[in-house]
Amino acid sequence: MTAVPLIVKLLSSSVSVANRAGKIVRDVMSKGELGIVEKGKDDFQTEADRSAQRCIIASLSTQYPKLNIIGEEDSLDTVDEVPSDWIVIDSDKDVLSLECPPSLQDIKEEDIVVWVDPLDGTSEYTQGFLEHVTVLIGISVNEKPVAGVIHQPYYKTLIGGENKLGRTIWGLQDTGVGGFTPAPPPDALVITTTRSHSNPLVEKALQVMNANQILRVGGAGYKVLQLLEGVASVYVFASSGCKKWDTCAPEAILSAAGGKLTDVLGNFYKYGASESRPNKTGVLAAVNNDLHSYALSKIPQELKDTLSKK
Ligand code: AMP
Ligand code: MG
Ligand code: MG
Repeated sequence: MTAVPLIVKLLSSSVSVANRAGKIVRDVMSKGELGIVEKGKDDFQTEADRSAQRCIIASLSTQYPKLNIIGEEDSLDTVDEVPSDWIVIDSDKDVLSLECPPSLQDIKEEDIVVWVDPLDGTSEYTQGFLEHVTVLIGISVNEKPVAGVIHQPYYKTLIGGENKLGRTIWGLQDTGVGGFTPAPPPDALVITTTRSHSNPLVEKALQVMNANQILRVGGAGYKVLQLLEGVASVYVFASSGCKKWDTCAPEAILSAAGGKLTDVLGNFYKYGASESRPNKTGVLAAVNNDLHSYALSKIPQELKDTLSKK
């Protein structure tokens, strides 16, 4: 058997690690001691964010020492503080057998930047909207998101009359997505947006869309899942609040499924290690190019100018 290309190995490891991180997220909630810290205005961190990040970074850096891994939670990446049962070296067998696209076959560890959001939707986590919570691992090569994992720790599947918790969705450029069944967009224009970080500019961008329905939910990961599952057609967020770790994995998976995620000016973000963390000019994502073009055409120039000046 020929060796498995690095990107495929790393994606299959990321699926297993995200599952473990999701269990940590559930365990912290069951214990009931969230250890909430306020990092900034409307920006919180809990014990689950901290522990899940330690698990992910320790697991990936043990196996791939030359990777550049950037996690949302600062200065937590000392491997020796991590309990040994948080270090996951398994890999998902289905992902491991994927065919690697030719353009990604010779990528080296040093060419990869991994963006980790150990818990996306922390506000919702602390408020009990648990299905909005996701674990995000995004893999970028030459500044572009090429693979990613969205794990949903509280997703319920009924198997043999019993609820199984958690599911993991992955995507790989030029290959596709797995872990769930994508569905076509709704017939009506359904927009998904923030639940807990709105402001007048965010509302202005929603008003101009002429939407039939606006869904307000937490997390960039969960909103992109709504696009992929046919619950919403477009994700609009005209704010500088999202960061690279929020959009790297969702963008990789959405584009592997034929969708598009850009800023509200229609430009792609870059995911090199030296890029600034905030997605300053907002997020505009859609399940296909037509819906993305429609939404982009509705954004007034004045709004684009205001965000660009921030
Ligand atoms: P939301 O759609 O509000 O759930 O935001 C998606 C992601 O971006 C989450 O990780 C949020 O924490 C982050 N985010 C969005 N807006 C802000 C903000 N104003 N301050 C801090 N984080 C934000
Ligand atoms: Mg986040
Ligand atoms: Mg987070």
